[in-house]
Amino acid sequence: MKDIEIAQQNKMNKITDVAKKIGLGQNDIEQYGTYKAKIKLPVTSKEKTKGKLILVTAINPTPAGEGKSTVTVGLGDALSLLQKKVIIALREPSLGPVMGMKGGATGGGYSQVVPMEDINLHFTGDMHALTTANNTLAALIDNHIYQGNKLHIDQRRVIWKRVLDINDRALRHVVIGIGGVTQGIPREDGFDITVASELMAILCLAEDIADLKKRIGQIVVGYTGAKEPVTVDQLGVTGAIALLLKDAIKPNLVQTLAHTPAIIHGGPFANIAHGCNSVLATQTALKLADYTLTESGFGADLGAEKFMDIKTPVLGKTPDTVVIVATVRALKMHGGVSKNKLEEENIDALRNGYVNLQKHIASMKRYNVPVVVAINQFTSDTEVELEELQRLCEIDNTAAVVANVWGKGGEGAVELAKKVLEKCEQKNEFQPLYAANDEIETKIEKIVTEIYGGAKVEYGVKAKRQLKRFKELGWDRLPVCMAKTQYSLSDNPKALGAPKEFTIHVREFMPKLGAQFIVALTGNVLTMPGLPKVPAANGMELSDDGTISGLY
Ligand code: ADP
Repeated sequence: MKDIEIAQQNKMNKITDVAKKIGLGQNDIEQYGTYKAKIKLPVTSKEKTKGKLILVTAINPTPAGEGKSTVTVGLGDALSLLQKKVIIALREPSLGPVMGMKGGATGGGYSQVVPMEDINLHFTGDMHALTTANNTLAALIDNHIYQGNKLHIDQRRVIWKRVLDINDRALRHVVIGIGGVTQGIPREDGFDITVASELMAILCLAEDIADLKKRIGQIVVGYTGAKEPVTVDQLGVTGAIALLLKDAIKPNLVQTLAHTPAIIHGGPFANIAHGCNSVLATQTALKLADYTLTESGFGADLGAEKFMDIKTPVLGKTPDTVVIVATVRALKMHGGVSKNKLEEENIDALRNGYVNLQKHIASMKRYNVPVVVAINQFTSDTEVELEELQRLCEIDNTAAVVANVWGKGGEGAVELAKKVLEKCEQKNEFQPLYAANDEIETKIEKIVTEIYGGAKVEYGVKAKRQLKRFKELGWDRLPVCMAKTQYSLSDNPKALGAPKEFTIHVREFMPKLGAQFIVALTGNVLTMPGLPKVPAANGMELSDDGTISGLY
């Protein structure tokens, strides 16, 4: 049965009942229909933050599929089955991948969050609010330049781009303001995808409304002719941008197929942004539940590194256990098997591809947190393969548990849940990768050598020039958000497994003063993705009675 059919057959509980489970009354939520709600802020709980935090990450993705969200949801349901008070905190899907490569992003099989159609489409409107807020600011910048340009913004140096939550390669580079004197000042511009926008990062890192406003005010939108930064505060529109996000900042409450509460909020991509759900959502979950399960995007080299180095300092809480999701199929691909041969048992390829998982295990252990490998079982996996993968992990002194969350939901992950609970009790002394006051180059070097397993970093001409300027501006010690392909530990998407001796090429930086990090663009990574030859959109339908199909 398809994911969407399973979801459609499920009977959801009313969102008020889901809220009640975690101690939230009718006055603590704003309902969006019967099955969705926003949680009012601030969330107060009798006790201070005390819950355990479990971070779910994965190996480098391949077309074989890894199923991080599926495992997160299944593991959450398994913890519920074990009578634990648990909240799952996931990211909101972006329409880019929903219509493009991936289809839905709400888990799969019997481990899903629902209502999956709503969550995957417009949900509670957060993406639209972000897109509108972002583009309002863009319009205000261009209007400022047009109306006399008091701040002397150099129109060739505006760095605030427009955004859209759709993969649209045709909008990567555009010329605006053409058509005559009254149409604005012509300049080159471009669109990013909403989930790569600084406002998305800000929404996900803001601790409250005051912090949201502070961060918005600090955004650098461009530079003057004398190359001095111009901020949103200087434009005098911080309030306007903040109020467009007044509802988007509130975490969204939904449920799994098994009625485990799930907070879905914020959705930056992990390859071109910081890849973690919102601090407010995670904090809310930590306050209301004994176990918070959250997920960071793509492989541990991207999402988990950013979770540890960008999110945890703001969150004020480090993970009690990291779960690394791996599949036999994906590891066989890392070991050189082509997509059409994945159904055949192949122990040699599995052994060869294991190096990818091995590297991520080592990287996560580098932070000195307990690690569990979740082997997300596919029907084509053979017993011998599953046993071999567990044996390989055992050699690396790492617990690996097979989970059949897709086929069985929570019941398929009880053993995994027990192992995770055991690990959560293990004492751990978090070891950050870099010191807050390390310089940008030092931070990047540590990420590249210790997390990616690379040899060195090379900076392009523009990147070098920017580093010099950042020093003058005092931006040279901000955290770094790497923008890198998700497919490889290196910046070459074709280098699968665990490449060695490679160089990471940083071609340019994007300062994000509101988010309080500097994005380093490596390789050929793009901040506006394109659609594939046959987009997921081609399989979607809306029947005459309003039923949706094809969202996977
Ligand atoms: P990720 O979070 O790693 O991107 P998802 O959990 O969203 O991955 O899963 C991607 C797709 O793979 C979903 O359509 C899901 O139904 C499918 N999937 C995940 N795990 C399995 C599995 N064990 N067997 C079959 N399909 C699976």
